[in-house]
Amino acid sequence: MTFELSDRVQAVPPSGIRRFFEIAEERDEVISLGVGEPDFATPWAARDAAITSLEQGKTSYTANRGKRELREAIADYVADRFDLGYAPDEEILVTAGASEAVDLAFRAFVDPGDTVAIAQPSYISYEPGVIFAGGDVLPVPTREEDDFRLTVEGLEQAGAAEADVLVLCYPNNPTGAIMPADDLEPIAEFACEHDLMVLSDEIYAELTYDGDHTSIASFDGMRERTIVFNGFSKAHAMTGLRLGYALGPADAIGAMNKIHQYTMLSAPTTAQYAAIEALDSCASDVQEMVDQYDRRRRFVLSRFREIGMDVFEAKGAFYCFPEVPEGFTAEEFAEEVLREQGVAVVPGDVFGEGGAGHLRISYATGLEDLRNALNRIEAFVGNRN
Ligand code: PMP
Repeated sequence: MTFELSDRVQAVPPSGIRRFFEIAEERDEVISLGVGEPDFATPWAARDAAITSLEQGKTSYTANRGKRELREAIADYVADRFDLGYAPDEEILVTAGASEAVDLAFRAFVDPGDTVAIAQPSYISYEPGVIFAGGDVLPVPTREEDDFRLTVEGLEQAGAAEADVLVLCYPNNPTGAIMPADDLEPIAEFACEHDLMVLSDEIYAELTYDGDHTSIASFDGMRERTIVFNGFSKAHAMTGLRLGYALGPADAIGAMNKIHQYTMLSAPTTAQYAAIEALDSCASDVQEMVDQYDRRRRFVLSRFREIGMDVFEAKGAFYCFPEVPEGFTAEEFAEEVLREQGVAVVPGDVFGEGGAGHLRISYATGLEDLRNALNRIEAFVGNRN
């Protein structure tokens, strides 16, 4: 027999990045600037706490919402770092990566026919998540002239006033854009005025290089309409441990927990022990990684400018988003630079509206590889001139 695929699964196109991995596999000595994953090891203290928990046989399920000690540590951390007040018992849900939290939110708050506005270019999982939940996606393009910040004008032009939910992600994957408080405030006012629920993916909140991160949930009237996503994959270099969390009003977090308790039961236990330690004692490790990312960021931006490729000043996450030179689409550039020079980058189109004509460059790679990769890109561009 053949499986009858659901309409929702069929409605989602295959990932635009996969083809590049296939080409990359055919070649030796590919330097990948394609992956959005820290190249650092998880801070040792966090790994040690995980190992100790295993030695002690702590391998059972935890409470559905996550270990209370971890929820308390998260509450203290977000209060201290981002001035956010969430109660450990009712307003915090620990999940299997921020990915699970994002998926739970779509399933908990989106009905078939609901419109979900997504500020784009954006992380590739939001759109499929909305489709799996039966909602309609409304892309809200951001523009390079605005440093890829979301504007009220952009929201109005896209028709987002009529949407039910707004998804944003700052610091942004794939552009590296940030939204300082002055730029967020009018967005918060727009959300209140048009009664939008806001899903704010703040997984890169620690990775800012020009002032501290501000959460949209900290503005007047926003706490009650916002879910904040965060996690340990990026700042704490814990991708494989699969741990994230959602913050929000008790009713909303309760609804997400309802799905979570039937579908996931609880987030990975070993990872929760690592995360408690990560919040407790790894702030200086995080700062060291942030300093290194910043050094790499400045190097990559200056090299692109030397090569003669326009690139806006990315100020967060670990990506920059240069423009492809004239005569190429982003897809052509990415494919040819991979085949000819063995450098893997991701064409901006896969991140939705506003991404065309750009490349996502991840600098979560050591300086030596970055130096070599940029020399190869320079040779590739030089050969075409
Ligand atoms: N949100 C964004 C913006 C991301 O870039 C990623 C990972 N690439 C995630 C969420 C997923 O994070 P996690 O590993 O916590 O599921």
